[in-house]
Amino acid sequence: MTETLNFDVTTVTESRIHQFDPNNITFGSLFTDHMLVADYIDGQWQTPKILPFGDISYNPALASLHYGQAIFEGMKAFKNDDDEVLMFRPQDNWQRFNISAERMCMAQVPEEIFIGGLEELLRLDAAWVPKGEDNSLYLRPFMISSDVYLGVRPSQNYRFMIIMSPAGQYYSTPPKVKVETEFIRAAPGGVGYAKCAGNYASSLYPAKLAQEQGYTQLLWTDAIEHKYFEESGTMNVMFVIDGKLVTPAVSSTILKGVTRDSLIKLAQSMGIEVEERRVSVEEVISGISNGTVTEVFGAGTAVVVSPFAAIGYEGEDYVLPAITEQSLSSKLKKALNDVRTGKVEDTFGWVW
Ligand code: PMP
Repeated sequence: MTETLNFDVTTVTESRIHQFDPNNITFGSLFTDHMLVADYIDGQWQTPKILPFGDISYNPALASLHYGQAIFEGMKAFKNDDDEVLMFRPQDNWQRFNISAERMCMAQVPEEIFIGGLEELLRLDAAWVPKGEDNSLYLRPFMISSDVYLGVRPSQNYRFMIIMSPAGQYYSTPPKVKVETEFIRAAPGGVGYAKCAGNYASSLYPAKLAQEQGYTQLLWTDAIEHKYFEESGTMNVMFVIDGKLVTPAVSSTILKGVTRDSLIKLAQSMGIEVEERRVSVEEVISGISNGTVTEVFGAGTAVVVSPFAAIGYEGEDYVLPAITEQSLSSKLKKALNDVRTGKVEDTFGWVW
């Protein structure tokens, strides 16, 4: 529990929970009854409000609409067998949020508002946290600049909000991914380590081109030589090479994923050797051919792990071995899901 803060709470007169079918969840389209709104005005956070979820109005000169001072986080809450609501490593997301805020020259959000707000909302909307394997409540804290001013400068006012949306099982066959060697996601000195809105906008066009070529997603390479792997789509990327878990070390161009860090610690606890280092395209392509690279997967909050079926590089597809229950990615996914959903004892201190 965080330090308590007074929230100005207006609850709904009638819940919309009847609209929610836990057996038929479409990601990101249905939102819980309540949302949090906290305004930063004249250098001070105002009393956060919890309000019925709904539209907000904005002035067309709102700074964030023009110059993109906008950041977000993505996290999940789960229900254990005793119907308790659990958050997974929320402090890591709070810290990363403030790292993003610093890079985008925005106000820092105090823990009492970020985590306290999540707690308050989850208490009110606990009925919206679905039970069941792979079901969760997706939590979306975000912040925008709210000056009404068209000059390019850091805004003086900000609005922090939290909205929540039920998330279900993510069915997918392992995707075919393309090594991107023309466009980049992030460059040294840029904003790759921040979760700012523009990073996602700029990834859409290269991703669309890859989809037109029959790939589901991109494997981003470094901005200088297009030689080393960075991330995959909106996930961190991991490789199993000679039985070791290998992943690019975090840098200014790589988001410090909470899932990435959790999988590293879980793998180490299973006695698996982990290497955080540069991984070249050449190492992986030749490793798939000679059998030393056995798994390549994305790692992120949404799906935990997303193993890839094949990697496309310079017009050639390199097919990976099929994933089984014995694959390291399957074992890591199960281990992480078991901790997140309270099925096993949390020896890491991750569950809130
Ligand atoms: N990289 C990027 C660019 C992302 O957007 C995400 C998802 N937040 C990740 C990696 C994975 O981070 P996490 O494990 O904290 O979800």
